[in-house]
Amino acid sequence: MKESPDLSELTRQLIEFRDARDWRQFHSLKDLILSLNLEASELLELSQWKNEGDFEKEAATEPMQQQLREECADVLLYLLLIVERAGIDLQQAASDKIKANGLKYPVDKSHGRSTKYNKL
Ligand SMILES: [Mg+2]
Repeated sequence: MKESPDLSELTRQLIEFRDARDWRQFHSLKDLILSLNLEASELLELSQWKNEGDFEKEAATEPMQQQLREECADVLLYLLLIVERAGIDLQQAASDKIKANGLKYPVDKSHGRSTKYNKL
């Protein structure tokens, strides 16, 4: 089985794709963030007008799996372009955020609860 590329390799492939087309000139930070949100909206659109149970079932079907796969990939690719443009170490930032969330949501206060941290 083929091994999935890590985030560094994906970023390398993406930059190569972008630069071969001379598209960096169009990729301002503002427009990359806008594009990320448009792609997130395409992901959201997949569930529009469907109840939760029906959508969960549909999500397991091949056609919806393919659509979810593509929209999730679009979101990730724009996110990688944003962090490359902004000079952010995404993996470190995500790790730091998980630690910070652990402090905001201590297990003893948040276990099994969806309450926001400022109301715990
Ligand atoms: Mg898309």
